[in-house]
Amino acid sequence: MGVGLSSSKFISVILFLSLFSPTPISSNPLLTSKYFLDYAKKSELVKYVVSIRRKIHENPELAFEEFETSELIRSELDKMGIEYKYPIGVTGVVGFIGSGEAPFVALRADMDALPIQENVEWEHKSRILGKMHACGHDAHVAMLLGAAKILQGHRNDLKGTVVIVFQPAEEGYGGAKKMLETGALDKVEAIFGLHVSTDKHIGTVASRPGPILAASGLFEALISGKGGHAAIPQHSIDPIVTASNAIVSLQHLVSREADPLDSQVVTVAKFKGGASFNVIPDSVTIGGTFRAFSRESFLQLEQRITEVITRQASVHRCNATINFHVDDKPFYPVTVNNKDLYEHFQVVAGDMLGVENIKDMIPLMGAEDFAFYAEAMPAFFYYLGMQNITKGQLAASHSPDYRVNEDAFPYGVALHASLAMSYLLKHQGESKLPDVLLHDEL
Ligand SMILES: [Zn+2]
Ligand SMILES: [Zn+2]
Repeated sequence: MGVGLSSSKFISVILFLSLFSPTPISSNPLLTSKYFLDYAKKSELVKYVVSIRRKIHENPELAFEEFETSELIRSELDKMGIEYKYPIGVTGVVGFIGSGEAPFVALRADMDALPIQENVEWEHKSRILGKMHACGHDAHVAMLLGAAKILQGHRNDLKGTVVIVFQPAEEGYGGAKKMLETGALDKVEAIFGLHVSTDKHIGTVASRPGPILAASGLFEALISGKGGHAAIPQHSIDPIVTASNAIVSLQHLVSREADPLDSQVVTVAKFKGGASFNVIPDSVTIGGTFRAFSRESFLQLEQRITEVITRQASVHRCNATINFHVDDKPFYPVTVNNKDLYEHFQVVAGDMLGVENIKDMIPLMGAEDFAFYAEAMPAFFYYLGMQNITKGQLAASHSPDYRVNEDAFPYGVALHASLAMSYLLKHQGESKLPDVLLHDEL
């Protein structure tokens, strides 16, 4: 305990001192995170990032179809003289800035849009009917390109390699998983990702160490009975009543079986069956989502959803088949933020924005495929505030009224660049050989 106390005092002193002297994030003492924020606020760079974002906003592409977005990214990287690998995970692009040597630290942006018709009338409204960047992934790509520009301009100050990751299909299809499966990120030892946020104030960021977003899966069940005349129910096997009982029983998984202190969700969001007032249908489809904050609780829910639906079906003489659609929509794991990277973030973002603007976040039941990176390596995910009440309330993400406040871009650009550059400074020269190699040497 004594050691813990004295070391925590020591850390407090360091944190206290760092409030007054900006932490150098490069061996060049002039390159502080504040310097990068000033750099990112230069009108030329702001114009660049905004113009990229608007181009992508006008031409939204859905999961694994981000061909033109990917092409735009590659042509920008070509102009900057940044080397990259393509295609990674269908449309993904992975660029490399710096020495080409270890350590390798990654910055990630997602590229996909949503099947939503944009409601906002403005000059750069989506030109594709029924598709829209309603989650800010256009902003994510633009900010990462802005950061790439800064980092490439300071490549000789990088003490290793920054890997910039543009991934497809965050929205439900697990593009991150596909990227990892290619092995393109095998050398990467840490990764940072951000998400724009409509309910956090501009100039602030929010995150937390440990679990920040839930594990998520979807389920769909086909409940089959025997259709017939609604006035002669004894000749039918009614799947509507069966599905209704199954739905009510599913409510008990969280309310009666889960630990009240272990947050979980089971929501039935889909109920399709029947087309007439006087016909009992042959079958009904129900479906929904389930979420949990630990792998164990998540797998328990998966098992119990299957049991509840199939057994309720048999009570009512129906059959049920359940599909979790994991082939094209993999389960998203819990997004867990690494503690060391959280501390790194606190110092860098605190220097840049002021410690009072680094907000603690309570975990959300939302999910992110960034979780796949966090399973594979130390990872850190944070939210970038965009809200400015004087400019009106921003609609929540996935809304047809969703808008991005482009004034937030310099913060995202500067955070990306500073987090990566300072990580390399801190970890230069550290051996990260795989255990196997170390054992061989022994
Ligand atoms: Zn989204
Ligand atoms: Zn998103």
